[in-house]
Amino acid sequence: MKNFKTLLLVAAALLVSLSLGAKPKIRIIATGGTIAGVSSTSASSAYTAGQVGIQTLLDAVPQILNLADVSGEQLVNIGSQDMNDEVWLKLAKRINVLLNEEGYDGIVITHGTDTMEETAYFLNLTVKSDKPVVLAGSMRPSNAISADGPANLYNAVAAAVSPNTRGYGVLCCMNNQLLDAKTVIKTHTIDCDTFEGGPSGIIGYIYNGEAHMLQTPNNKHTINSVFDVTKLDRLPQVGIVYGYANASALPMQAFVDAKFDGIVLAGVGDGNFYKDVFDVAVKAQNQGIQIVRSSRCPTGPTCLNSEVDDEKYHFVAALDLNPQKARVLLMLALTKTHDWQEIQQFFKEY
Ligand code: ASP
Repeated sequence: MKNFKTLLLVAAALLVSLSLGAKPKIRIIATGGTIAGVSSTSASSAYTAGQVGIQTLLDAVPQILNLADVSGEQLVNIGSQDMNDEVWLKLAKRINVLLNEEGYDGIVITHGTDTMEETAYFLNLTVKSDKPVVLAGSMRPSNAISADGPANLYNAVAAAVSPNTRGYGVLCCMNNQLLDAKTVIKTHTIDCDTFEGGPSGIIGYIYNGEAHMLQTPNNKHTINSVFDVTKLDRLPQVGIVYGYANASALPMQAFVDAKFDGIVLAGVGDGNFYKDVFDVAVKAQNQGIQIVRSSRCPTGPTCLNSEVDDEKYHFVAALDLNPQKARVLLMLALTKTHDWQEIQQFFKEY
């Protein structure tokens, strides 16, 4: 009996030591994009996004296996210009299962760069875990000279296995840099150095396979977010109207006629409307369609009650969110409330 107990203790100790030496379990979810794109010529400017599968991406960077116990799955294979609410819901639900029920230590998502910032922000508000979730893409297709995808994927896995990134919410990893989901913006149409963190800059960087963090996010996200997609199979409909001199009110009117739930203005300056568009916006708000004012300016906040009397019209100011991210937050906010003041509070917190 004594010998049996000793044997059990030795076996338990062996298991503990094996698990201590085990590599982190990382799941890669592939969604397409230029990182999975193929060019028919040696010049990388003409290509089709979302062509090669997850295994081809992994085969290009065998060094990843030194960092983690990596496995992958293909959720969709699309250019991220075709990203939609249905894929977002699927992705958020899948990540929550992988992290909370299937024992994964982190997630890497391969994604096109066009709408990466929107997916990152959506996941930042809907993932229910403080484990790392990192998006990676590329600006050059997989078979281009000096393709940037393999290094970005390697760095994303390095970020996902790092204890330094835990609790940071969702990150984007491009060009050796780590960017925060709320502030990240795509700034250049074709350069590899396209992602920036706005005035607050990058949140960290990867050097020699190590994640170095420079600052912490100052907004609510992931485990502190109230938004829950578990039971959702669709999202409220929210459109964006672009502002410009002598603007037509037709796009705003079209969203109203189509009974959208909310409209975001990509306004001029501090989220200002052209007068004809303003008149339709006031009517829309009175009909229960929530108007959020954001700005077409690349930097700076859209401030509450500045040139527009938001209190009077019950408009919401997007504050630090650009129009495409304001749309994401408004969709999720409308799953909780239709009270403009509560929605404004969400814009202050998230
Ligand atoms: N159109 C591509 C996409 O977003 C661009 C890229 O991935 O860089 O899927």
